[in-house]
Amino acid sequence: MIPIAKPQLDETEIQAVTDVLRSGIIAEGQRVKDFEQAFAEYTGTEHAVAVNSGTAALHAAILAHGIGKGDEVITSSFSFIATANSILFTGAKPVFADISADTFNIDPHMIEEKITPATKAIMPVHLYGHPAEMDAIKDIAEDRGLILLEDACQAHGATYKGKKVGSFGTGSFSFYPTKNMTTSEGGIITTNDEEVASKARMIRAHGSKQRYLHEMLGFNLRMTDISAAIGIAQLKKLPDYTSRRQHNAKLLTEKLSNIEWIKCPEVKENCTHSFHQYTVRTQDRDELSDYLRIKEIGTGIYYPIPIHRQPYYKELGYNDSLLATEKASREVLSLPVHPGITDEDIDTIANAIESWGGPSC
Ligand SMILES: *Cc1c(COP(=O)(O)O)cnc(C)c1O
Repeated sequence: MIPIAKPQLDETEIQAVTDVLRSGIIAEGQRVKDFEQAFAEYTGTEHAVAVNSGTAALHAAILAHGIGKGDEVITSSFSFIATANSILFTGAKPVFADISADTFNIDPHMIEEKITPATKAIMPVHLYGHPAEMDAIKDIAEDRGLILLEDACQAHGATYKGKKVGSFGTGSFSFYPTKNMTTSEGGIITTNDEEVASKARMIRAHGSKQRYLHEMLGFNLRMTDISAAIGIAQLKKLPDYTSRRQHNAKLLTEKLSNIEWIKCPEVKENCTHSFHQYTVRTQDRDELSDYLRIKEIGTGIYYPIPIHRQPYYKELGYNDSLLATEKASREVLSLPVHPGITDEDIDTIANAIESWGGPSC
């Protein structure tokens, strides 16, 4: 079976974890600080605050900007549920703008009409590792006095006009095992705003800067040194992982480009795509997915139900009609391009798709 995702772990991570265990300091310690510094440097931000999941990063980032009850945050419904849930956790309301059909990211033209007096922030998701249209989004945020947040949980290392995502506004990353790099579970907030960083650190540790002095309501969102040790090792390998993903994606696009019933992912000008997922569009994608499973090729559907159509969101009263989002949910299929995939695997995947013959309708 060629899996859709596979964490790349070797003796480096095993040794790093073993060293932490032998040290006896296994919760948050020096390695978390070192990891934060390395990740901030990598992303090109002044601060990074490590937490125990991507969801925790989003939650703490939104809270650190003072967003809460009565506020609205404009984001994408074509994402993992955590994007919108993290807004709900704070008491604020997620407001969904439709996506661009070609990048699957929030369409800047759709943002303006969603702005109300309650809007506090815009939170694009760099879905699959392709940067959102940051110039246009940044302009809207600046014109309307809105906070810019980025859900960069799938986009470690992706760049827009030479700048890494997560450095335009306050960024959140995930280090779940299927992501471009892992710490097992884990996440991080990136920001150039010292106050936001300081508040996020407090929210991470029960609202305290100084032990047993609690200035605000916080949580336990701390990352462990065990996770940070894995993260330090993984971050060093991230540039190599990213180029391997990009190589696999390029090769797959070359091989699939002559199949007219498959639409390959685009990489927009001024962007680098970190290919967390290589996502094609096709009719009858469920049948293609079943067919590929028989051929021992793993695929993924991210995401089959948009957030605004989820039972819980319906219960909350969401009733949007987001045509591009809903169409994408019916057509997307992700194919394996992770760093464990070889050129030979790419041939196998492309040949299997070709042999399916195309959708029946
Ligand atoms: C993975 C992911 C998250 C949440 O990260 P966790 O580490 O799983 O909590 C949030 N948003 C997006 C877009 C993701 O892909």
